[in-house]
Amino acid sequence: MPGPAARILAMGGPSGREPTARGLARRDCLCCGLAGLAAAAWPGRAGAAEPAAAPSPALVADLVAANHILFDQAVVDGFGHVSVRHDKQPDRFLLSRSMAPALVQAPDIMEFELDGAPVAAAGRTPYLERFIHGAIYRARPDVMAVVHSHSPGIIPFGVAGGAALRPVFHLAGFLGPETPVFEIRDVAGPATDLLVRSDALGDALARTLGSHAVVLMRGHGSTTVGTDVRQAVFRAVYAEINARLQSDAGRLGPVTFLNTEEAAAAAQTGNGLVGRAWELWRMRSP
Ligand code: MN
Repeated sequence: MPGPAARILAMGGPSGREPTARGLARRDCLCCGLAGLAAAAWPGRAGAAEPAAAPSPALVADLVAANHILFDQAVVDGFGHVSVRHDKQPDRFLLSRSMAPALVQAPDIMEFELDGAPVAAAGRTPYLERFIHGAIYRARPDVMAVVHSHSPGIIPFGVAGGAALRPVFHLAGFLGPETPVFEIRDVAGPATDLLVRSDALGDALARTLGSHAVVLMRGHGSTTVGTDVRQAVFRAVYAEINARLQSDAGRLGPVTFLNTEEAAAAAQTGNGLVGRAWELWRMRSP
């Protein structure tokens, strides 16, 4: 079985220099600086004890694809991001460096602690709002992927008084009977730039998300979670489509929404159909 460095190179990942830095950082995290130094002095012994900690290449490939699909499906543009929980170390997550999602490739994927600290930045700049992801992974052990976007159809539902994003069709049943709205003023006062740029703000957002699939962010966008990256992408796409349909329907007359039971049943059916949509979207954005 190839070692972590070989696996990273095999998936077209970071330069050969980086796995060493990652390995040292990992030992530093598990033990202490002195232990890291000792490990560096006896690399053979440390290598034998080191867990298989590199993320699965298939997971990284899905994360790269998710970045491209979310752009192709008009959920993200130059902004927005998608992460996955590390499949070997659940207290870490994977997220691109700060860049337009459509341009993300495997070497751009960075590893983070759940407090948003990069494990081995290697000169790469992280997203300002990476705290959204880590805080939700901390609060929600069931969540394996997170999408944050400013998709335009959803924005009105976070700012219009009395509006609530609710499922108008079956593919958005995962929204459930209500979608919470995060008001950043409640936790950070009246003069922020609206960005979730600290761990404390991430925690506040995660509290508002609660057990829901989607949380709206007033004057900013939304964040969507899933039990894997494909489901999170599915939900982000259909939350945006539902928002547009709901706005359209509301202009025509009183809207009949899915009731709680219908939403739950439709969500369950939708979970079994994620792969069909993913295959199509994947083909459109190789
Ligand atoms: Mn944002």
